[in-house]
Amino acid sequence: MQIRILGSGAGGGFPQWNCNCANCRAVREGAPGFLPRTQSSLAASANGRDWVLLNASPDLRQQLAMNPVLAPSAEDGLRASPIKAVVITNGDVDHVTGLLTLREAQPFTVYGAGRVLQVLAANRIFNVLAPSCVAREELPLGAPTELKGAGVDLGLSVEAFPVAGKIALWLEDALAANYGGAEGDTLGLKITETASGKSFFYIPGCAGVDPALAERLRGAALVFFDGTLWHENEMIDQGLLGKTGTRMGHINMSGPDGSIAAFAPLNVARKIYVHINNSNPVLNAFSKERAEAKFAGWEIGEDGMEALL
Ligand SMILES: [Zn+2]
Repeated sequence: MQIRILGSGAGGGFPQWNCNCANCRAVREGAPGFLPRTQSSLAASANGRDWVLLNASPDLRQQLAMNPVLAPSAEDGLRASPIKAVVITNGDVDHVTGLLTLREAQPFTVYGAGRVLQVLAANRIFNVLAPSCVAREELPLGAPTELKGAGVDLGLSVEAFPVAGKIALWLEDALAANYGGAEGDTLGLKITETASGKSFFYIPGCAGVDPALAERLRGAALVFFDGTLWHENEMIDQGLLGKTGTRMGHINMSGPDGSIAAFAPLNVARKIYVHINNSNPVLNAFSKERAEAKFAGWEIGEDGMEALL
């Protein structure tokens, strides 16, 4: 199974269009140790020919250009795509708007929790994915689903499971409990190659590692995990946004409640941070925070990074 990071940044990407923080300035100036990052997405394939996208980011068009393996091949005819399915983990702008790039009557299947599919159905602009052509399949939670699209069996299954998180910002209801959020708003995914049984986890948004999630991840071969923030208050401390990580639905990397500490006893063979916000000091390859994450066995995801299982 081949896995490729299409975009390792969080919403807004790196640099973010309107951000002048120290990190965004450095990457704009091409300072050593800083790499630009597009927004949050992975691609996976069992046969190297047919691919599933895990989330569809607003940067998808650029990501396709940067990954020729996702371009139509000559023998497939005039209009074709190796993208046969897209799995959506939540309704965030950085995870659904790339679907609009996949218009033009190309068949594939969109998989998501019922709550996310309702959001797509309620927003008619997503009808550019003609229902006659693009199937929408609800993912059951906690049970595997064989991934299929455009008449192709991808040789992969996905198991979606709810993780601690938050309803997408643009869907928040200020007056409702939990801002109107409910189970299924934030999913983790386990992708398994049918033939080999090898699997990896993709959890780009997660507010905390509870005991159930810890047990699920224990001994995993490969986990891509929410790397939004280093510190709970970093957005506030940098004067960027008056919100903590908890309020945004993201666990931080550092500290006793952070993901580095939570993963330490889990014996995960390879762990890679993705969905990294532009405020995060690990984006500087020479920072002490990067060294600390690396010392704890973490890799900092980069666009184009590949993993083989
Ligand atoms: Zn910034």
